[in-house]
Amino acid sequence: MGLVVQKYGGSSVADAEGIKRVAKRIVEAKKNGNQVVVVVSAMGDTTDELIDLAQEVSPIPSGREFDMLLTAGERISMALLAMAIKNLGHEAQSFTGSQAGVITDSVHNKARIIDVTPGRIQASIDEGNIAIVAGFQGVSQDKKDITTLGRGGSDTTAVALAAALNADVCEIYTDVDGVFTADPRVVKKARKIDWISFEDMLELASSGSKVLLHRCVEYARRYNIPIHVRSSFSGLQGTWVSNEPQGDQPMEQAIISGVAHDTSEAKVTVVGVPDKPGEAARIFRAIADSEVNIDMVVQNVSAASTGLTDISFTLPKAEGRKAVAALEKTRAAVGFDSLRYDDQIAKISLVGAGMKTNPGVTATFFEALSNADVNIELISTSEIRISVVTRADDVNEAVRAVHTAFGLDSESDEAVVYGGTGR
Ligand code: ASP
Ligand code: MG
Repeated sequence: MGLVVQKYGGSSVADAEGIKRVAKRIVEAKKNGNQVVVVVSAMGDTTDELIDLAQEVSPIPSGREFDMLLTAGERISMALLAMAIKNLGHEAQSFTGSQAGVITDSVHNKARIIDVTPGRIQASIDEGNIAIVAGFQGVSQDKKDITTLGRGGSDTTAVALAAALNADVCEIYTDVDGVFTADPRVVKKARKIDWISFEDMLELASSGSKVLLHRCVEYARRYNIPIHVRSSFSGLQGTWVSNEPQGDQPMEQAIISGVAHDTSEAKVTVVGVPDKPGEAARIFRAIADSEVNIDMVVQNVSAASTGLTDISFTLPKAEGRKAVAALEKTRAAVGFDSLRYDDQIAKISLVGAGMKTNPGVTATFFEALSNADVNIELISTSEIRISVVTRADDVNEAVRAVHTAFGLDSESDEAVVYGGTGR
């Protein structure tokens, strides 16, 4: 007998039918002799609808009340799921994040889990129940206020509970069959990956792959919890994310794990920066002080005639306005000419630990983009990733071209997307 933590996303429990279908799956896992803890997201687009509603009432809602509102979504799905399971003749109990012992810091809307004390959950499953836990929420340690973990946070709840309960596996059920070599919504010939290391998965997640959140994978790696990402709409084996392949998973990881893309960033260019020590420091101190996270940074060589250079960097679109305002304030001190803000960009990243030891990966990547007539605006690399910034309009074509160039296209089954928006 094992202990399984299963997480079901919003698209898997979008309506009553979905809830009943998921309930059957959960009961199957229990009948197979496991203790089962389930983490559930809000039904369908409930969280988005609650956010819209809040905005209609108040443009800048209080963080505390906003979190209180959003956690209602997961309360609805957890209670309905428990009812559906009981209707199948099995015992189930639902718990809020707070009741499940998910303890966080007090940063509303993006709280971090600092401890999990799952005593009630353990007791419930030891009595033979299936425990259903509301994802994406916890309670703050100091003020005992209800918090949320940031969009998509239910995955993190699941991994955190799996770690605290010493589970054998954390199964993340979603609306695709696993982790693919590219977003199956863009690349019809994307292939399902059977096994991927934490390292490569982290890099894919931070490069825009939406199937698993970076924070969730980070947590799983820290506590060495294998994740099995699979579809709640099919019975297929999904993708295993772990340190080492296990059982009948392939022994070797591919040279290239996949291609990720991200259209959520914008590019800021500081034009005409005097090329002398301290200017970049001043610029990025101003950005940091406004609590904006930046991604890629590129500085051009300065023109010999003017001694001026341009510095470009990317950041989340949502933080664009804040960053530009902060930079404007430094204009006199830095002495730059102007600022350019461009939100029509996309980032395309190739990820794979194998690129460390295989020459020619960068050349093939650039050739593929060139053959597709895609212009490259910025480049950045890590040991196991190459990223470029292109025009947003080019993103789909660029991803497909790179995917094909690295032989990642599948010959057979087209990737299936069962539901949801891939958000
Ligand atoms: N319901 C929350 C969201 O939509 C949390 C989650 O789905 O993981 O972001
Ligand atoms: Mg959701």
